[in-house]
Amino acid sequence: MTWKYELVIWLEIHVRVKSQTKMFCSCKNAVELAEEPNINVCPVCMWFPWMLPKLNAEVVRLGVIAGQAMKCEVNKISRFDRKSYFYPDLPNSFQTTQLYETIVGQWDVRVLVNWELKHFKIHHMHLENDAGKLTHVWGKTLCDYNRAGSPLMEIVTEPDFRSKDDVVEFLKELQKMMRFANVSDADMEKGQLRCDVNISLRKFGENILNNRVELKNINSFSSIGRAIDTEFSRQAKLYEKWEYVDQETRGWDDDKGVSNVQRSKENAMDYRYFPEPDLLPIVLTDEFIADCASKVGELPIDRRITYLNDYKFKEDDARILSADRDISDYFDSLVALTKDANKSNSYITSVLLAMMKEDAEVNTFASLRFEISELAEVIALVNKDELSSTNAKLVIEELFVNGGKTSAIVDAKWLRQTNDLWALEAVVDKVIESNPTQVADYKWGNERIFGFLVGQCMKASAWAWNPKIFNDILKNKLG
Ligand code: ZN
Ligand code: MN
Repeated sequence: MTWKYELVIWLEIHVRVKSQTKMFCSCKNAVELAEEPNINVCPVCMWFPWMLPKLNAEVVRLGVIAGQAMKCEVNKISRFDRKSYFYPDLPNSFQTTQLYETIVGQWDVRVLVNWELKHFKIHHMHLENDAGKLTHVWGKTLCDYNRAGSPLMEIVTEPDFRSKDDVVEFLKELQKMMRFANVSDADMEKGQLRCDVNISLRKFGENILNNRVELKNINSFSSIGRAIDTEFSRQAKLYEKWEYVDQETRGWDDDKGVSNVQRSKENAMDYRYFPEPDLLPIVLTDEFIADCASKVGELPIDRRITYLNDYKFKEDDARILSADRDISDYFDSLVALTKDANKSNSYITSVLLAMMKEDAEVNTFASLRFEISELAEVIALVNKDELSSTNAKLVIEELFVNGGKTSAIVDAKWLRQTNDLWALEAVVDKVIESNPTQVADYKWGNERIFGFLVGQCMKASAWAWNPKIFNDILKNKLG
């Protein structure tokens, strides 16, 4: 029966802005780093009477950068509104948000979903403050206001999503964009990226929007997929029985794999929105917007498309190389130095990243003990046939562990390949001289001994040369 119905989804996403201080006061915006509850608080973010908020310019700057990263239009004038509701995590009984005139307007985000390029439209993005955190223990409720007043960006999309893959790939792309633009760490498990999923169904071919259910409390990409599947079949079953889908808010319980009603339409809240009297409108100049745009850099999706289309990389490699800005920047710089995208790719993905994964100290590109030019030198030597690819790995390992210079390592370890026939013949002569029994054996017709002699030559030359060269010289000498 599910084949009859089309999923229609839109998203409301809260992203924690990575500013130094909170949105309206100078308290540290360090939710995860706070050692104790209620240490990053002050009379402003506790909203004591007569305290006045002062907007943090850094939050505006990061918000505009995020808007540019999503290719959305930035509104030169935006305002704050009060959203009134009572809850113990909100000391002042209202949230400062933007409803009527938001800082970022509409446009779209491009996403590769199963390697097909799709566009998902953003309705708008606005700025607002976060609430505190409640913990329910021992029949009591504990309030921690370290998070109260932390800046959030709320991104609201259009109902453009038709599958869970659409949703998950979009969120992953959004997370990457926020990280590339350095506006948020956007870690779902840490609550820095929170997503409410609005789901409705309709029969294929219909163009209406039916009643939608808002799913909350989804904390990971995998639980989003499960929550959507479950809600899809719950609504489809109702329609099959000619029943109604109520417009309601449901909380997702990931352990049980079910959702429960949190709020129905009948007791929907009236938030009494009104213009915030204590804050001036945000007015942005063209210079400010242009300066923010210059901070965005090349987007992850564009890098991924370059890796796929221009460099013809495998999908997995393109995904790994565009997964975060450090990898991508390092790779792009290496290609700029070497003009060799393929070798840059393979030395980063299969050598360097593998070593970084195993190392507790050197696990970022910034902490590498060697300059990027040394890795470029390794690639240059390989391309000039002066270094074998086996030995290139040895050199990179040495650089990784002890740092230093590529040319010095190559020379110290006798790894430089040579096409100097005299030197090669000298090696062969030495091997023949020191293995008289084996040579005699071979001359008597024991062909298998030949491989052993080639191996001895390789060993004597520290595996720096191609065995084929020794093959030829040995054959010549032994007749
Ligand atoms: Zn404060
Ligand atoms: Mn919100």
